[in-house]
Amino acid sequence: MKHPNKEIMIDLIKKQWQNHSIYAAVITNDGVIISEGTTTVAQSCDPTAHAEVNAIREASRLLKTSQFPSGYWLYSTFEPCPLCSSAAIWAGLDGIVYANNPTYRGDLPNWSFIRCADVLEKGRDIHQVTLYSDYLIEEIKGYFTRHKKDNTKSEDEHGEVSSL
Ligand SMILES: [Zn+2]
Repeated sequence: MKHPNKEIMIDLIKKQWQNHSIYAAVITNDGVIISEGTTTVAQSCDPTAHAEVNAIREASRLLKTSQFPSGYWLYSTFEPCPLCSSAAIWAGLDGIVYANNPTYRGDLPNWSFIRCADVLEKGRDIHQVTLYSDYLIEEIKGYFTRHKKDNTKSEDEHGEVSSL
């Protein structure tokens, strides 16, 4: 399968609109979704329980490894923060594909306070991770500012995503 994969990202974006959490998934090169993660920081009382880390942890558990063989990719509906970008390096993932970025975070803090691309660049001696930034961002960039717009507008956006 060729990355970035539209079908996989659209599915994750749809889930974010429906369930209101960042969604991440670990994918094989054949397009098989090994694991999916949502952000569970509050529920699990774990400051590191970001969607991407949760997806990587679950995939590691299923594959019984801390170092993935080649061919595994991380997809996320939001730009991975420094923690999650580093986790992708430590896990030995081949690549990251993300959609939304902090430009469209609304009033939220900038949790990608070191850009994913910068973390991956600095960590390349440990493991090289390919990056596709802002993939299908038009489908999700209105998410964090959805309440600031009139209802018709945000429903339109929702409808566009749902119909894909
Ligand atoms: Zn994170």
